[in-house]
Amino acid sequence: MSCRGIKHGVIACLLAVICCGVALGQKATPCANCITLNKAQPPFRIFGSTYYVGTHGLSSILITSPAGHVLIDGDLPESAGLIAGNIRLLGFRIEDVKLIVNSHVHSDHAGGIADLQRRSGARVAASEWSAEVLRKGGVGKGDPQYGTLSPLAAVKNVSTFRDGESLKVGEITITPHLTPGHTPGGTSWTWKTCEGSVCYDMVYADSLNPISAPGFRFTKSREYPQAVEDFEKSFTFFETVPCDVLITAHPEVSGFWDRLALRERGVKPDPFIDSGACRKLAESGREKLRQRLADEGKR
Ligand SMILES: [Zn+2]
Repeated sequence: MSCRGIKHGVIACLLAVICCGVALGQKATPCANCITLNKAQPPFRIFGSTYYVGTHGLSSILITSPAGHVLIDGDLPESAGLIAGNIRLLGFRIEDVKLIVNSHVHSDHAGGIADLQRRSGARVAASEWSAEVLRKGGVGKGDPQYGTLSPLAAVKNVSTFRDGESLKVGEITITPHLTPGHTPGGTSWTWKTCEGSVCYDMVYADSLNPISAPGFRFTKSREYPQAVEDFEKSFTFFETVPCDVLITAHPEVSGFWDRLALRERGVKPDPFIDSGACRKLAESGREKLRQRLADEGKR
């Protein structure tokens, strides 16, 4: 759903802004925030065959190979054209994207997938829970934000994977890790990217923010009873995963633009290489959940 007009637009765009704890501090209308999230961002190489092709407010990652590419996240519905344009600017073809995957099925990360699939012809792979939402469109039952989310457009040709099952496109191997909590189907991704003999463990992290629709309790949800346990599993994953370069679904959550500014100033070692970044992400996620559960205890 677009941020322009129609009745759910205001809620959808507001949620797109707050969904992962992004405070833009604007007093403008929610749709103006959507425009901010969708601000154009020139694409660039993060490392090796891994490129940033998202908007300034929402990450989208292209991993390339001569036999086809992988795209992680499609951002907002209106982001699809920007992402396709960024892929072209880098000298690649959208038609060579063979696989599209996702962090979680909210409109600010999955809203552009249907359009990007039409442009590329790529297959889409998702966790069981997320795949059901993508196939049907709409909003998933059990989503902590159910009732306030913008419905997704249905996506064709969605396959599913098991936790830790490697997916291959040409020489690319990318591995999904179920990191639920923010949604029941949340998924983070790992792969290796090399430049010559130097290879790094790349991590694309799903949101770890415990926010919800009014009335939802992470401690007592009938629709999502294992929400707290799921978050705990996700924190443990980020505490233990090999992690040289962390990219978060909302780039600023991992200081992405600060790191880029330092890199552009020639700071060495490369500010994107930070083997402690995933542990820091887990720590901040644990703290947010602790605060949320303390608030729920007072209600
Ligand atoms: Zn979200």
